[in-house]
Amino acid sequence: DNPIQRKPDWIRVRAPNSPVYQETRALMRDHKLVTVCEEAACPNIGECWSQRHATMMIMGEICTRACAFCNVTTGMPNALDADEPARVADAVAKLGLRHVVITSVDRDDLADGGAAHFAATIAAVRVASPATTIEILTPDFLRKPGALEIVVAARPDVFNHNIETVPRLYPSIRPGARYYQSVRLLDDVKRLDPAIFTKSGLMLGLGEEKMEVAQVMDDFRIADVDFLTLGQYLQPTPKHAAIARFVTPDEFADYAAVARAKGFLQVSATPLTRSSYHADSDFAALRAA
Ligand code: SF4
Ligand code: SF4
Repeated sequence: DNPIQRKPDWIRVRAPNSPVYQETRALMRDHKLVTVCEEAACPNIGECWSQRHATMMIMGEICTRACAFCNVTTGMPNALDADEPARVADAVAKLGLRHVVITSVDRDDLADGGAAHFAATIAAVRVASPATTIEILTPDFLRKPGALEIVVAARPDVFNHNIETVPRLYPSIRPGARYYQSVRLLDDVKRLDPAIFTKSGLMLGLGEEKMEVAQVMDDFRIADVDFLTLGQYLQPTPKHAAIARFVTPDEFADYAAVARAKGFLQVSATPLTRSSYHADSDFAALRAA
């Protein structure tokens, strides 16, 4: 086991106890929805849920992968729930979201990796909340030919797939995934439908070097990735990968400056940045620009 390090002062989170937080929680329970906010033990849950921002995780709570940083349970998932897209759509309408982020576990057990379920969820949200912009955060659809095309045809506004870490650390941090498969996925989205914004992100503090992060940024720009998120990795339990170091807020600001210079349309790089953190206001600002 890896002992959990004490967090530095700049990682401060607000206790989750506001009335709106409780309302958001009750709505998720009533709709039997899983959220990545809870599953990933996200430090921003107090802030986000107090503004009704919850990131729903579809296709169950059990993942077929076992990434070393992730708190989601690994195993054989249950069958897909055909009512789930309607429940997600209803929750999005009740929350009154102008922008929603929908993610999922990996479903290597399904022939299409869950692509049709993603597409059905996007379609259901579009019907129930036509003014809401939809951001999806998908698995890599490794060895699932045709899956990406199904998801892209459903026309999400933002297609996010996280690269998570630099290629050198893939064998220990993201076993089961392939760095270039993930970069290619983002590239393919852009080629299939250039109107969709693409987005990706990394967790820092896992032992990556600055030059390696810069190389990932360059790979993203070649793949025409629009938005970049960088945040501090936090270790969920002693069984997960250890934190190599806490990257300081100044270093995050330096990364943000480098990323902007490389031409990303939008960059979020702070210790508490997560791929869905402030996704609604960031996207609204971009559209207004
Ligand atoms: Fe949920 Fe994302 Fe906010 Fe974390 S940052 S609480 S995962 S919406
Ligand atoms: Fe967690 Fe996603 Fe990895 Fe599954 S694929 S273990 S949900 S990070």
